[in-house]
This record gives sequence, structure tokens and C-alpha cells, in this order.
Amino acid sequence: MKKIKNYINGTNTSYSSEYLAIEDPSKGEIIGEVVLSDEKDFNDIIRSSEKAFLEWSQVTPLKRSRIISKYKDVIERNIEVLAKIISEEHGKTLDDAKGSVIRGLEVVEFACGIPHLLKGEFSQNVGANIDSWSIRQPLGVTAGITPFNFPAMVPMWMYPISIACGNSFILKPSEKDPSCAIKLAELFSESGLPDGVFNIINGDKKVVDMILNHNSITAISFVGSTPVAKYIYEQSARNGKRVQALGGAKNHLVVMPDANLNQAVDGIIGAAYGSAGERCMAVSVAVAVGNIADELIENINNKALTLKVAPWTDKNSEMGPVISKDHKIKIEEYIQSGVDSGANLVLDGRNCKIQGYENGYFVGPTLFDNVSPEMDIYKDEIFGPVLSVVRVKNYEDALKLVNDHKFGNGTSIYTSDGEVSRHFTTNSKIGMVGVNVPIPVPMAFHSFGGWKQSLFGDHSMHGSEGVKFYTKLKTVTSRWPNSIKSGPEFKMPTN
Ligand code: NAD
Repeated sequence: MKKIKNYINGTNTSYSSEYLAIEDPSKGEIIGEVVLSDEKDFNDIIRSSEKAFLEWSQVTPLKRSRIISKYKDVIERNIEVLAKIISEEHGKTLDDAKGSVIRGLEVVEFACGIPHLLKGEFSQNVGANIDSWSIRQPLGVTAGITPFNFPAMVPMWMYPISIACGNSFILKPSEKDPSCAIKLAELFSESGLPDGVFNIINGDKKVVDMILNHNSITAISFVGSTPVAKYIYEQSARNGKRVQALGGAKNHLVVMPDANLNQAVDGIIGAAYGSAGERCMAVSVAVAVGNIADELIENINNKALTLKVAPWTDKNSEMGPVISKDHKIKIEEYIQSGVDSGANLVLDGRNCKIQGYENGYFVGPTLFDNVSPEMDIYKDEIFGPVLSVVRVKNYEDALKLVNDHKFGNGTSIYTSDGEVSRHFTTNSKIGMVGVNVPIPVPMAFHSFGGWKQSLFGDHSMHGSEGVKFYTKLKTVTSRWPNSIKSGPEFKMPTN
């Protein structure tokens, strides 16, 4: 059985003797264990990260970019290896895991352009013979705390950019699938990254609290559930740290009566049930506008019935298990609560048994019709393959529904009407919006982040927002001594 430790200064190491089981969710079996780090481990990582920052921040952006460029090649050669590690511990299909590594790789690719991205602004003659310029400098030791659902992609939203900017980075991955992070760090070392620039510490809340409270850590990036995101935001801000904390979601996909129905149904099926609904950009609410509802539901149901639910080792699998036994129970309790509160259960994913994998944490695709806003299945993030359909009379009611929800991560509209789509993209109170695109995840050179309870802090992840987050601005005003007229000045200088 594998034993996952920390990755500090280029070495797999740990002092703590406390370990937590890692499971294979397809089989419901323990396949390894991960260390729950203690204070000694934490002090070790801090020492290493502080020292590495002093040296790494002096390396020129161009040289940093060359190492990151090598890392890009190394990851490309290891996509299959990384995807397999993800599927083994997370349960998602191999193709889906590969796709997520590639989306992370795109951020590495973006970070290769760091010399260009760090170019500042310059103004000549802001006063007589006086020039002024702005530069962005690294912050110091930065940290990221990440969720189970994207063990490669979400950390890769963070550390490539932080490190490219000249910081050192400590990653605390999810304790549910920690192996991928260690592999990502080993590959970075193999690419020439100096020891200590990218360190991994494993553990639970105890380690997170050490990160939040340590003076040397200047900035925290978090992705996970909303209650934890709020805690991270408040605690980090109280300790004077820069913080971006991304939380949960309830993404609505609006289907207008003039939508291309086949496209809308295909979009919904993939976005609601792909990765067993365990994506922060999964569609969990379909909003059926006007008379399209009956046909839409019938088509979704027909397609959902044909979905192949199977472990990742089955090449034809379209949907794997959910992450844990507890999570399966929670999802099934939500399904019951939907029934109890009067929603119409069209397709029930409970009692989903896969031959040979009877102890796996499988939940089949689930579909509810006639869901209304006061129901828990509508209000809460379920984070499983459960799709709620809400019927509304018109576009205005659909927009109101989207905007009234407490989460604001992603949304999408399917329509053939340019005016409606323009109104929706302008007026929806949501961070990431799609038009005839089910999961509008921004590319690496744009930025990823929601609104409302889906993001606490001022900056989204990656793209120019990432560069801003991981650097601080300095503005210099300068003139040379020979141009200075003699004598002090006592009024504000003006031109
Ligand atoms: P989680 O909040 O349980 O855990 C996230 C991280 O926080 C883990 O590293 C975990 O060890 C740590 N953690 C957990 N409880 C903590 C506590 N009480 N105090 C301090 N640290 C704690 O989330 P998860 O179950 O791993 O991931 C699923 C959630 O992540 C969903 O809500 C999903 O929407 C969200 N998510 C959001 C985005 C986004 O971009 N907004 C992306 C991916 C996932």
C-alpha cells in the first residue's frame, strides 16, 4: 500500500506518525494512506519555503520562464501517468482526468509568458525631468489549499503563476486524493525547479490553520466548499494576508423555447452528469422556459437512461463513482428530501449497483422535474449527479431565478436570439457566463472566478488576475540630481 508523505526541498519526507486512509471510490477499498502533518512538518516546510523564496525571487523572469517551459514538456510526456493517478483516487473516467490535466497544463503554458506579463508601466516627464514607473514584485511565501475534485487542474490554476512571478509556493492538497500533487511537484523538480520553491504539505484542518496563522505566508489561494472558503477568507484577512477563496456553486442552464433542443440536451447531459456532477461548473439546475419543458425533460431522461456508469478502468465508462461513502449517503439523502418536498423524481440514481464493484460509491444519473426555489435540492449545492428542472413562464423569470440564487459561479443560456443572449450576458449576476456553451470555463489566459457566495476576495484565478494576485505593485518616481533646482519646496508639486 502506498504511503503519501510531504514533498519538502525536493524530498518525500514527514515526521508525523498520524495517517489517514486513501480509498479507491470505485471499489470502496483502502489503497493507501496519507500523512496528517504536525507542527514539526510545518516548521520544516516554512524554513524551506522562506529560503527558496530569497533565491528564486532573484532569478530573472526569463530564466524562470525557461524552467516552466521545460515543465510544460515534462507534463505533456506524463499526461497519461497523471490521469491514471487521478482516476485511481478520484474515480473519474480516464479521458476526463486527461482533459483536466490538459486544462491545468494550459496555465503552465500561460506562465511561460511571465517576462511579458510582468512588464510594468512607464511615464516619461510626469514632471520636469521626472519619470515614473510601476513594477510588480513577488510577495514571498504563498500557499494554496485545494479540493478533491480536480487534484491536478485546480492546484495548477495557482502554483505555476505564483512561481513564475518569483514566489515560493506551499500546496495543501485534498487529503482524499493527494498523490497527484506529489507527482506534479516531482515533475517540476525534474524540470529544473530549485528545491523548496514548490513544496507540498499533506493534512487536514490542523495544517490549514497553521498556514492561515503563520506570519511568513503572505497570500492564500483556496478552492473548496463555501463554508470553508468563508472561513479561509475571514481568517486570512484577519491575519493581514492577501486571499482569494473560491467556494461552491449551483449553476443554472436556461433553455429558451427557440433553443436548438438537441444541442441543449447534449450540453445538459455532459454538464450535469460528467464527473458524477462533482464539478464546480457542473449544471445542477436546468431552467425550462415556456413550452419547451416537456420535450426537454423527456429528451434528458432518454439520454440519461443510456449513460454508462462504470469504474474508470472500463473504457466505455461515461460516469464514475462519487468520492466517498459519506458523500454517496449525503447525495441520496438529498434525493429523498426532493421527493419529500414534492418534486417529481423522473429518474432515480439510488441503488446503483455495478457488477463486480458492489462496494463502490456509485450514484446513477438523477432527474427531478417541477423543482421550486424553496426546496433544499434547489437551494443547496449537492455536488453529485442530480439535475433539477425548474419550469418558468418567460425569460424574465429565468433571469430572476439565476440572479436570486446565493451562488454565482457559472450559468449558461441556450437560445437562437442574439438580443436575449446579449441581455443575459450583460445582466446575469454570475462570474462565468455561456451562450450555447454548457460549461463556460475560461481559458488560462482569461480568469476563473464566480460572484456572490462562490468567491470571497477580489481576484479570480489565473490569467491577468492571477499575475496581479501573486505580485504587489510598486510605483517609482525619479529624477537625476543635476536636474534638481536648489531649495526645498513646501507646496504640493504640480505641473
Ligand atoms: P472542502 O471545502 O471540503 O475541502 C477543500 C480543502 O479545504 C481541502 O484541502 C480540505 O482539506 C480543506 N478543509 C476541509 N474542511 C476544512 C476546515 N473545516 N477548515 C480548514 N480546511 C478545511 O471541499 P471538497 O469537498 O474537497 O471539494 C468540493 C467543493 O469544492 C465543492 O463545494 C465545489 O463546488 C468546490 N469547488 C469550487 C471550485 C470553484 O472554482 N469555485 C472548484 C472546484 C471545487
